[in-house]
Amino acid sequence: MVRMGDKTIEHEASEQPVISEDMCSGCGICVKKCPYGAITIVNLPEELEDPVHQYGKNGFRLFGLPVPKPKSVVGIIGPNGIGKSTCIKILGGQLVPNLGRDNAAWKDIIDYHRGQEIQAHLERVAQGGVRISLKPQNVDAIPHAFDGTVGELLSRTAELDYKGFADELEVTPLEHKRVSEISGGELQRVAIVAALSKDADIYLFDEPTSYLDVRQRLRMTRVVRKLAEGKAVMVIEHDLAVLDYLSDFTHVMFGQAGAYGIVSTLKGVRVGINEFLDGFLRAENMRFRPNEIKFAVKPPSEEWRGKVAFEFPSFTKSYEGFSVEVSGGQLRKGEVIGVLGPNAIGKSTFMKVLAAVEKPDSESIGWSARISYKPQYVRTDFEGSVRELVQSVPKDNDLFQSIIEREVAPLYDNMVPELSGGELQRVSIALALARDADICLLDEPSAFLDVEQRVKFAEVIRKVTEKTERTTLVIDHDITLQDYVSDRLMVFEGEPGVRGKAHKPEGMRAGMNRFLRGQGITYRRDPNTGRPRANKPGSQKVSEQKSSGQYYYTSE
Ligand code: ADP
Ligand code: ADP
Ligand code: MG
Repeated sequence: MVRMGDKTIEHEASEQPVISEDMCSGCGICVKKCPYGAITIVNLPEELEDPVHQYGKNGFRLFGLPVPKPKSVVGIIGPNGIGKSTCIKILGGQLVPNLGRDNAAWKDIIDYHRGQEIQAHLERVAQGGVRISLKPQNVDAIPHAFDGTVGELLSRTAELDYKGFADELEVTPLEHKRVSEISGGELQRVAIVAALSKDADIYLFDEPTSYLDVRQRLRMTRVVRKLAEGKAVMVIEHDLAVLDYLSDFTHVMFGQAGAYGIVSTLKGVRVGINEFLDGFLRAENMRFRPNEIKFAVKPPSEEWRGKVAFEFPSFTKSYEGFSVEVSGGQLRKGEVIGVLGPNAIGKSTFMKVLAAVEKPDSESIGWSARISYKPQYVRTDFEGSVRELVQSVPKDNDLFQSIIEREVAPLYDNMVPELSGGELQRVSIALALARDADICLLDEPSAFLDVEQRVKFAEVIRKVTEKTERTTLVIDHDITLQDYVSDRLMVFEGEPGVRGKAHKPEGMRAGMNRFLRGQGITYRRDPNTGRPRANKPGSQKVSEQKSSGQYYYTSE
């Protein structure tokens, strides 16, 4: 159990979607219309007395621990810097918690957790009696630690036969390649196969979807779910659709990023994600965010017709061994076009041609649009502070100050070379949006961002696009984000690494149906939050939706 602070605050029911549990009949109308006009007492998170762990004297403090469950997948959801990886390290025995003291021994740690579900686990960790397999967050570090081929790495680390996992995750064709020469998505799959082929009691996956496309994310979830038929599995994940599909239970983590983090009670996966989006934890009676995150179920936007701003012609772009064929299309004023498709199908190539970073086979696409472009891999050799970087870049100052600046202002005093992946991503998206342009191109903006940052940037992208009446194109593999941000979709299909075909932009319904049909997966919507939820295979919904061709947009 996590003990909550006793600080309480009174809230008008009209401001908060909260009502005392005694009165609540679950009617769902309380947000604005509660007939009781109730004033309820809601706890706000406050730092608690005794942490499970504290880094250094004034360092980050962690309160509570998540609980691994046999034969289940437990998901952990929460912002960056809230202590998720720290929890995983403690559960895995890599980090001995110190209870915020100088001299805590295992006996103290077990006493501290006496009577709690986690006690038995900690006793086993203390005795070295639990075998843990960990897929670390940062797969980019693997090539620095291992010099050799993928096959050598897997033969060296595997305790079980890894071939089956390697086949399922399409790692087998990579076995002869050097670890230092494979892409991020390939590295991620290798790391997952390595973790799966350990002989362990508990399997921990720290952000397994980074760099993976939607199909690869689905394959990963299927393999991990199968693993959980016999083992305890824990997953940290920021892709809500994946976390939802993958997990049986969730812990929500909240607090103040970088300062302290609190682990919620264990919740069912649907409830946990919905409470996370609400910003309110029911069992704890705890509001940890003032606002809820809500997914507007947009009317299918086929009918919506903005004014055409630009037209791009059909073109092809070929490299040695790869070519992509793009059908020309219209870009309308004030719309966001989501771009979906597998890895290595030509999405980034398409953006590079629009941005005139690459030439099409025909030398030019012949248009005069002014482009702002955030590439997939953001690199900068700027050595000053974020403030200096922001000042040095040409931009629309009114737009920047009114909508964009607040997303990056907290980073102003940080030095650019010291930014984390997520921080650099936030700065890059902000600068791309702030540039005075006709078309803004964003290649994988969600990489390294947590759920709240994804949603915040999705809102900013929409606001900027509408206000400036430009067109924004967004390549991203997060289906929840694409649903949130896009007015229309552009779908890429083909044979990854060999040939790609880009369909012209189409309405959300048609685009999602085209895309999801290719993946063999259907989605419904959560009735409370409107968020898209993948149907589990074999359910009646799946066959109904597939036979009617509606892979998306159906309500619950
Ligand atoms: P998350 O996985 O939720 O992003 P982490 O558990 O990695 O968060 O980190 C939580 C906080 O603890 C961060 O503020 C981080 O800077 C800090 N932290 C992590 N590891 C260490 C360490 N070894 N020494 C000091 N501080 C650390
Ligand atoms: P996506 O963005 O869909 O993941 P890309 O457009 O980045 O795909 O790449 C498509 C294919 O083109 C990949 O097989 C990639 O290896 C290849 N490719 C991309 N850029 C080049 C280049 N400059 N030279 C040769 N091949 C390239
Ligand atoms: Mg790409």
